[in-house]
Amino acid sequence: MASGGEERVVDFKACFGCCKDYWQIIKDYHSNNEASIELLRKHWVLPREVQCKECNLPCKYREDRHQWYCDRWKKSRKSKGKVQCKFTVSDYKGTFLDNSHIPPWQIVLFINHWLRKQWDHEAVIECLGWSSSTSVDWRSFCSEVTLSWLDNQQQIGGQDIIVEVYETFFVHDKYEHGRPLREVWLFGGIKRESKRFFIVPLVDEGFQDRSAATLTYYIKKYIKEGSVIISDGWRGYMRLPLQGYTHHVINYKDNYVDLVHSFIHTQNVERLWRDIKEWTKRPGLRVEYFKQYFVRYLFLHRPPKEALHDFLIAVATLYPPQEPRVQ
Ligand SMILES: [Zn+2]
Ligand SMILES: [Zn+2]
Repeated sequence: MASGGEERVVDFKACFGCCKDYWQIIKDYHSNNEASIELLRKHWVLPREVQCKECNLPCKYREDRHQWYCDRWKKSRKSKGKVQCKFTVSDYKGTFLDNSHIPPWQIVLFINHWLRKQWDHEAVIECLGWSSSTSVDWRSFCSEVTLSWLDNQQQIGGQDIIVEVYETFFVHDKYEHGRPLREVWLFGGIKRESKRFFIVPLVDEGFQDRSAATLTYYIKKYIKEGSVIISDGWRGYMRLPLQGYTHHVINYKDNYVDLVHSFIHTQNVERLWRDIKEWTKRPGLRVEYFKQYFVRYLFLHRPPKEALHDFLIAVATLYPPQEPRVQ
């Protein structure tokens, strides 16, 4: 699979009926390649149109071979007569499905299962008839997609909208296998009203960075200007008013809620952290996989019916098909 770098126009909001629950997805796509390919095409995982590289004009699609082709007659460069264009390209080229011999419906069902809290490796192998290594491979392909999505979380907040921010760390005990994970710092914020959130791990390949500059970078990236930010009294936040935010501080040493202004608290974001800590307390969680587990958690923590849609959009962004869709 190749990752494309070109800028693509994708309407992230438009959905075409993938917002269904787990069993409905199985019912609709099991053994149904036609419906699965349509689903993938509608979310730009597969191309909607392919240009002939020779003629720069749209190709035709041949369903039985999953292939785009061009059969235009054009002037021959060598002789006086006309020659027929013979351009062909696989429907899957450059996409998430490139070099895969797995029927598309199985990939849709695999993703559907992977986006569930109760991941079951044995069940996937048994139900889809896959080998263990195929399942492991596709798990890692899916992890790559969510990891790339992590950098594209949507901004929260807005003028006079309350956003609670918090940084925390996880301390893990020793494990029998792998490197013990001592400490992982996370930073995140939650929009109080809608509970929409962003979270970023302040760890990258073992390196942790919790400087004020890094926090400011993430605040500007993920919180809209004009928001009312509520945080603890760490010095790293002190410059927020200069960045276009209103800032309130809760002093945890004294109280958990400001006694004069009861809106000054960070209880929502703290609850979110507690959930995450609970979920990540699993044996064998190694620091090198932390990010993967963590990002999968983010997907699972959202409305379940939206997970597949957002995942497919993230796939299309990471592995763009050959041509951008026609506007
Ligand atoms: Zn959708
Ligand atoms: Zn052509």
